[in-house]
Amino acid sequence: MLNRENSNIIFREACQLMPGGVNSPARAFDAVGGDPIVFDRGEGAYLYDVDGNRYLDYVQSWGPMILGHAHPQVIAAIQAAAVKGTSFGAPTQLENTLAKIIIDTIPSIKKIRFVNSGTEAAMSAIRLARGFTGRKKIIKFIGNYHGHVDSLLIAAGSSAATLGVPNSPGVTEGAVQDTIILPYNNVDTLKDTFHRIGKEVAAVIVEPVAGNMGCVIGNSNFLYELRHLTQEHGSILIFDEVMCGWRVGKSGAGSRFSLLPDITTLGKVIGGGLPVGAYGGREDIMNNVLPAGKVFQAGTLSGNPLAMAAGIATLKVLNETDPFAAVERKSAMLAEGLEDAAREAHIPVTVEQIGSMMTLFFLSDTDSKTDIYRISGTTFNGGIVERSTATSSTGGCFSSKISDWDSASKCNTKRYAEFFWKMLERGFYFPCSQFETFFMSTVITEKEINQTINAAAEVLKSLK
Ligand SMILES: *Cc1c(COP(=O)(O)O)cnc(C)c1O
Repeated sequence: MLNRENSNIIFREACQLMPGGVNSPARAFDAVGGDPIVFDRGEGAYLYDVDGNRYLDYVQSWGPMILGHAHPQVIAAIQAAAVKGTSFGAPTQLENTLAKIIIDTIPSIKKIRFVNSGTEAAMSAIRLARGFTGRKKIIKFIGNYHGHVDSLLIAAGSSAATLGVPNSPGVTEGAVQDTIILPYNNVDTLKDTFHRIGKEVAAVIVEPVAGNMGCVIGNSNFLYELRHLTQEHGSILIFDEVMCGWRVGKSGAGSRFSLLPDITTLGKVIGGGLPVGAYGGREDIMNNVLPAGKVFQAGTLSGNPLAMAAGIATLKVLNETDPFAAVERKSAMLAEGLEDAAREAHIPVTVEQIGSMMTLFFLSDTDSKTDIYRISGTTFNGGIVERSTATSSTGGCFSSKISDWDSASKCNTKRYAEFFWKMLERGFYFPCSQFETFFMSTVITEKEINQTINAAAEVLKSLK
């Protein structure tokens, strides 16, 4: 057993000071049982805990650290900004720079507003969509997570799913009465809903690649229908790319699926590890945000210079080095390796993978017999999925055994927990829940991926 004495002491104290000892529930190890690791530092592909143990990190702060930890250019940018003062509550040029990089990268974003988290981005985007359309109803999908916005905190995947809290106490019926929840990737219920009440729908918010019930890839036909139906009924289509932005390719999921949403929400990667969110989209819509328009939204620390500097440095490195195809290849290599190892061990799994996101789903034994499904293998073709694949119902490359919360939730979470702990003992840090996404980064090498696969092969053979 790894020595985790210091971790345990610090976490015990944390439990006296903070609810559950953490500041975000996903960090607690409740879903796998046991106490979380307390970290001291990160460097490149690795995290180091307070007892000096080293872990290869596939969590990456739940998505942001696509360049690895303490990337020299990002750290230098933060340091340079910090010595000039940490917050002015007034415009800086850094905001323009980050805004320009994002607007140049994501085709559907013509104007953008920075906030401090993905939650804020989703909350503001919903308010804007309602203000713009004068309508009330919002459609969200079961198992999609958009932060802890009251009106979106139903059937919200992630920690909510992990901890079995479908509806949070404190969210009133009033707060969710205009929220309609539909199954993900299901075209029939979507069409039916729009035919009945399409003209009352202010917005549909969707994770085009879902990452909060494990990685579940949006079916291209489903996303295409979403675009078509919202357009036809005058509803706003919001792509929540807080997680999948820069993870499924350089220009986001919108480009990958050849679809232009009206509003996109961003976070995670665009902050380079500092707290940043953003929402942006069509100019005629964004011009309704105060003070250009009348929809209120504000933030004392929004556009914070340190956060902007970290985001600029991260996106600049990504633009200059264009690592997306290479990261996707490494990601597919890990996916294939895990899947082959599981097959040899006769453990039924399916791996969902796109870009640098993936999840190893442990199928329930009754569900799966000996079949092992290969979902990924999408070749990266510059970020654009051809129209022919984008409109076919299986999407050519995206067919899937795990396509929604219903199928994800049937997975063998006990077996995942055993896999998690045994990998942790060997120095590999995977998400502490079956319903979270593994991330690949630019700094994890093929050698380290092979080490991961070899360790996983041993572990999988030992699973009950
Ligand atoms: C993480 C996440 C959010 C919430 O972002 P926070 O910064 O944690 O508030 C919203 N949407 C998606 C898709 C996410 O993955």
